[in-house]
Amino acid sequence: LDDASLGGTESGVIISRFGQHAIVATDDQQPIRCNIRRAIESLVCGDEVVWRRFTGQSANTEQGVIEAVQERRSLLSRPDYYDGVKPVAANIDQILIITSVLPAFSAQIIDRYLVACEDIDITPVIVLNKADLLDDVEPEQRQEIADALAMYQAIGYQVLSVSAKTSGGLDDIQAVLKDHVSIVVGQSGVGKSSLVNALLPDIDADVGDVSSNSGLGQHTTTVATRYALPSDGFLIDSPGIREFALWHLDETRVAWCFIDFRPFLGLCKFRDCKHQPQDPGCALQQAVEAGDLHSLRLYNFHRIIESMATSKPSRAIPR
Ligand code: GDP
Ligand code: ZN
Repeated sequence: LDDASLGGTESGVIISRFGQHAIVATDDQQPIRCNIRRAIESLVCGDEVVWRRFTGQSANTEQGVIEAVQERRSLLSRPDYYDGVKPVAANIDQILIITSVLPAFSAQIIDRYLVACEDIDITPVIVLNKADLLDDVEPEQRQEIADALAMYQAIGYQVLSVSAKTSGGLDDIQAVLKDHVSIVVGQSGVGKSSLVNALLPDIDADVGDVSSNSGLGQHTTTVATRYALPSDGFLIDSPGIREFALWHLDETRVAWCFIDFRPFLGLCKFRDCKHQPQDPGCALQQAVEAGDLHSLRLYNFHRIIESMATSKPSRAIPR
């Protein structure tokens, strides 16, 4: 690049990245296609960058070049079979854990996501979707869901009940998303796509605009993309960041990521306490008996530790 053809430095945020190119949102939220300087090692959706405008050979194509990346406030990585961890999105400050009445509600799955959120220190919000189906399930199941949601609220987590189908509670989600950079995670079938589409009513039109302005084709649906919300916030979305794994954590770290365990950690009689019913002087077991800790959380902790032991992939797998 000829430096003489470049404008002054401007700030922006990565909407999406494709190899040596990226679409950057300018300060007034206009998408502009940029090349990435080779010296920049890692650049992901959500990164804040310094870039400069240049005018390409065909006169009407405004383009830019990304010169530097600002320090990240957070980084969401995906454990990768071969590369250890793979960064996918930067500067997220909120994770919406989507769960639903059907497929069957599971507090254990919620706890897995909560652990992952606490590990990277990003605020989780628990969202029960398909609330319209609550009338269709057995009373016991309805009670189980209500009890679990009350438990998470008591621990200090924000909990929302919504329906992408009836739009019930979507205002509450919009309020939670305001002024944040959020992602949605959750199991297949809970309604993530339905919710994202409901929250971004003109998502398809927007993606079309970005694609035609940038000439980057249809990639936007599979690459992590940052969308501006109607209510002053951003949603980063892609199928690849909707699920994340835990096998890279150790047992001590998982226990710390159960935030309601923290007052009791380090108080067990034995340093290597496994917090099982037969362990003498276990502070967590005593807290459950005293009613200071919910037994379901300790139960789920043990199930997570067990599943980690069996799901850890071998690092010896050849490329
Ligand atoms: P994803 O796999 O998490 O992205 O889930 P989808 O958005 O594809 O939704 C899975 C299924 O649940 C689809 O058949 C949706 O129509 C349905 N669904 C999504 N949200 C709701 C809801 O609030 N209520 C009901 N009854 N069904 C829903
Ligand atoms: Zn213990």
